[in-house]
Parts: sequence; structure tokens; C-alpha cells
Amino acid sequence: MTVDPYTPHSGDRRYGVLHYDLALDYKVATNRLSGTATIQVQLSERAAHISFDLIGLKATKVRVSGDRRASYRQDAKRLKVVFGAERDSGEELTVVVEYSGAPTPRRTRWGLLGWEELEDGVLVASQPTGAPTWFPCNDVPSDKATYRLEITADPEYTVVSGGEATRSTQRGRTRWTFQQPVPTATYLMTVQIGRYVDEHVALGDTPGRVYHPRALAPRVRADFARLPDMMNSFVDSFGPYPYESYKVVVTADVLEIPLEAQGMAIFGANHVDGVGGSERLVAHELAHQWFGNSVGVARWQDIWLNEGFACYAEWLWSEASGGPTAHAQAVAHHTQLRSLPQDLLLSDPGPTDMFDDRVYKRGALALHALRLTLGADAFFELVREWTARFAGLAVTSDDFLGLVDEFNGDGRALVRTWIDELPLPTLPRSGGQPRATLSV
Ligand SMILES: [Zn+2]
Repeated sequence: MTVDPYTPHSGDRRYGVLHYDLALDYKVATNRLSGTATIQVQLSERAAHISFDLIGLKATKVRVSGDRRASYRQDAKRLKVVFGAERDSGEELTVVVEYSGAPTPRRTRWGLLGWEELEDGVLVASQPTGAPTWFPCNDVPSDKATYRLEITADPEYTVVSGGEATRSTQRGRTRWTFQQPVPTATYLMTVQIGRYVDEHVALGDTPGRVYHPRALAPRVRADFARLPDMMNSFVDSFGPYPYESYKVVVTADVLEIPLEAQGMAIFGANHVDGVGGSERLVAHELAHQWFGNSVGVARWQDIWLNEGFACYAEWLWSEASGGPTAHAQAVAHHTQLRSLPQDLLLSDPGPTDMFDDRVYKRGALALHALRLTLGADAFFELVREWTARFAGLAVTSDDFLGLVDEFNGDGRALVRTWIDELPLPTLPRSGGQPRATLSV
């Protein structure tokens, strides 16, 4: 029942999730998580049982709406829910899972993923298969759902997740509630817990908020000072920002790489230096809100659509903020790629290489080649159509090629030389002029 060959042990194609309601309680000092997941699913085929991905946490009670005879079994990776009788395709049911344990990240070929204790708090980094370390789910990117997430935690900590947040106090503990009404992939759900202060930042029409340890305030303020300009520039190029807010978390810990989540980005203390040393990454993570989070991949093999756009956004921001132009960046990265092995197929890099830097750079170059061919105006019109038409959906490379067809009869063949063939194509010489500047 493999849903995605890149993650053959994740997901169940018998159903799709409509909504997750997660009511959790967490104690930082003991790393103790307990909770109730109320999951509304719709069966996509006639089924006698369904499975949720759940790792390192123990289900203690499982109920299925309208089914007193339902039972469950759990192994190391799966929670199998067996119905009292077969249920029809199209049926909607509610599964309630009570569970608890001491969450830990899972070991994968991509490193440690999921719920992870920081020095003094929590980080959740799930791409691609970490979500089951903290809630039972259908852990494939094609199955997007809405969420309500409630976390009760110790009062000295701030809890951050995507969506509209409310906070109340109950018996000396703080209850945080987040509403995520936009379809969200499991890997983009996150929880960040730390001793954070927060600051509001106006990002045009979008409320922004930056959470960080108090001691990092001067560096954080300096490094995110251009975030409003960046947001303006990206809205101009990519279309309306897809969420109701944008939240940035800077942890006290050092992180290997920053990461994106739905309506959020998370950076390590090492990514703020007070002089904008990681501004490229700030642009990259913001761009993922359009590319990856809103327009998401249906299967991991198409991850170039996420990372190519996010990397290209770095080059666009370089140009918009007075640095080297996107074209100059493209030429430089093309030269670098030429010296590397050309044995990676962009449209199907394989699970081991899906986060290889060549996926990022060649993906961005494919987009730049398309821009050179279409001309900047038509290219950005295509990009805005891409983010509008497929907002909240899960896409494949074919969806992108189909849109390219609508703009230029030769565009598909051009993009395919970049994504479906191994040798590195040359950048087109002629065609539309690169835009000199983006409005900031
Ligand atoms: Zn990325």
C-alpha cells in the first residue's frame, strides 16, 4: 500500500484526513507528552482497517465513531485501527486516539526528524517523515488537512505553532490553542517551545511576529529588519502571501539548517549575527510559504518544485536588495554545477539525494532558463498563476509543465531538458531581458 515510493513505510492510501484536532499536554522538564488526537478521515476505498503513522508513543485508547467493535494494534511504526465491519468508500469517520510517552526524534536516512528536545525547550523539524513522532497521522505530503492544535505547557515557556493563537491559564499551566484553517501537510506542522520573548513586525498586510531568547534581541532585530521589504518584494513577484500571519522563531540552540513550517520559519542562534549573514536563508524560508507550503508537492520526487523556487527566491532577493542580480547568480551557480557530477535527475533524484544541493541549484536554474525564454513579465505572470491556481493543493512536475504549455509552446521542452535529462543544459542566450530590479 505504498503511497510514496520515497517514503515506502509512511502513509495509507485507504483514506484521506479532513481535520486533525490535537489536544496535548507537555512537560518540558520530563519530556512527557500526553494527548488526544481526534482525526476526521474520509475513506478513499472500501476498507476493513486503516493505519496511522505513530512512532515512539503509545496509544492507550482508540475509538471509532459509530463502531463499538473497532479495535487497534500498534507496532513500532504504525497504529492499525480495525473496524468492526467493512466501511464503504467515501464514508467519513472520526477516530479518537489517546496516546502518551516521551517523544524522541526518529532516525532516518535524512538524519534525526521530528520532536526534539532543545537545551531548554522543544523543536519539531519533520520534513519529510518526522510528524509521527508527535501525533498519529497519514504522513504523506499529498494528504493535506486542517488542524486545531492545543498544547498545555509550563507557564515559563512560550509555545509557537502556525495559525491564529490564543492563550489561557488553567491551574497554573498555560494552554495554547492554534487554528490552522488552511490545508497543511503533516511535515509542515510544528511545535516550538522555549523561553522566548516576541516582537510584532508589520509585513505589509500580514502580521508578523518574531520569537527569540531575550539575549539575542539586538542581533535578531538587525537581521530581520529587512523582512518587511522582503515580504513586499515577494508579494510583488509571487502573488498574495498565502497565510494570515508569518512567525519566525530563533532558538537559543545552534541549528544545522533553518526550516520552514506552515506560516513559520525556524532559525538557530547561529543564523543571527547582527549583520545579515544569513539573509539568503531568511529569503529562502519565506519563499517556502508560497512554494512548498501553499503549493506543495504531492510526492517527494518533485521536491525541486519546492527547493528550486525557494533557491531562486534567494537570487531574486539578492537582486532586489542591491546585491548581485539573479542572472549573475544563475551564471555563477551554473559554472559551479558544471564541475559536479551530472548524475542526478531533477524530476526524480531518488530519496537519498532529494535534499542534495544540486536539486536546489539546478531547480533554480531551470526556472531562470524559463524566465530567459519567456521574458520576465510572462515568467512572473506564470509564477503568480502557479501560486494562485494551486494554492493549498498538492502538485507534480506535470502540473507545472501543463502551466508552462499555456504560456509558451516551447517552454515544456526547455524545462524538460533541465528536469528530465541528466546533462546540464546551457542557459538560453536570448529571449526576454532579466528584470533589472524588482520593486522593493
Ligand atoms: Zn528549502
